[in-house]
Amino acid sequence: MPIDVARVRADTPGCAEVVHLNNAGAALQPRPVYDAVTRHLELEYRIGSREAERVQAERLAGTYASLARLIGAEPAEIALSDSSTGAWDQAFYAVPLGEGDRILTTTSEYESNAIAMIQVATGCGAEIVVVPDDDHGQISLDALDELLDERVKIVAINHVPTHNGLVNPAAEVGRRARAAGALFLLDATQSVGQIELDVRAMSVHMLAATGRKYLRGPRGIGFLYVAPEALDRLRPAMLNDWSASWTGPASYEIAPGARRFESFERSPASVLGLGAAAEYALELGVADIRERVARLAETLRTRLAEVPGVTVHDRGAERSGLVTFTKKGHDVAALVARLGERKINTTASVQEFRYDLTRGEPAVVRASVHYYNTEEELDVLLGFLSELR
Ligand SMILES: *Cc1c(COP(=O)(O)O)cnc(C)c1O
Repeated sequence: MPIDVARVRADTPGCAEVVHLNNAGAALQPRPVYDAVTRHLELEYRIGSREAERVQAERLAGTYASLARLIGAEPAEIALSDSSTGAWDQAFYAVPLGEGDRILTTTSEYESNAIAMIQVATGCGAEIVVVPDDDHGQISLDALDELLDERVKIVAINHVPTHNGLVNPAAEVGRRARAAGALFLLDATQSVGQIELDVRAMSVHMLAATGRKYLRGPRGIGFLYVAPEALDRLRPAMLNDWSASWTGPASYEIAPGARRFESFERSPASVLGLGAAAEYALELGVADIRERVARLAETLRTRLAEVPGVTVHDRGAERSGLVTFTKKGHDVAALVARLGERKINTTASVQEFRYDLTRGEPAVVRASVHYYNTEEELDVLLGFLSELR
């Protein structure tokens, strides 16, 4: 069913305040998320936070079930984390790597992931190999086929990069990585809640995602999926009394499932908010979300290209809700600040280094649409850009 725009906007009081085109930074929360968080904070305030946790134990467990449904997994295959970066790090640093081993990645990789890869590779003598792009700017499957050999221990790619509108062919990459015996780690930070994910169909071993972006959940929470068959191939970089139990003077037993990548302490209010966000997305249907987001983004790209001086920088045969552009003669950061003064929320995507910097712009404005945005809101942005001198 197409998204009922009036209903989702009514569920999102923020829509009355701002033109929110920063959904890739953090989306506006819908009412059920806000209610789940604030009701729990209220309960903690009244009866004590450990006690509130016990009262809500079933609902807290429900978050794992909702996230699992969202990505085609089982609840025990989900570990909660503080962010996508935290989840990704837990997965990546658990991969045993040594001299001569290879890490394959994309030209559009997220900076935190790239830094972690460089740290690990430098420390152990492994090699990072950046798989070239195809003609559309997505990871080249032909180049990947050529590179996949027994030296490759892990293929770590983003599904949707943070600074470009393209979508990488994750399922095709996963199938190839798996067939070659490598682990497949997918950074799904920008795709969860925007694009349908099925970890089994996509051959994913590990998937990292965040709560606050397209899922519309709270800040400070993310999650990691780990396939059961990958558990024995991974060595958690850090253990604690939640991810393991102390069984003797020199022994411990590691927790079953993905819990071995968690630690005890977290904000139950955020866990409940994340569960509510996953349920909200499931209720709308991610396929319908994807359809509307992609259509709005394509409309925005087409119309931006008609504005004098504006260049759209998105690549990709398949595209996401992230739209990137520059306007000739206008500094990106200053433009984003001026839009902000008009309550039009966008982001400046600026990076000192990226593997794909040679082909792209050093800085772009990123306007990322969600299903609750409207064509009228796009008009507001386009009108401002057209009048800009
Ligand atoms: C935002 C982003 C991240 C980091 O997510 P956090 O929850 O802030 O850690 C990772 N990868 C991509 C592609 C992103 O856009």
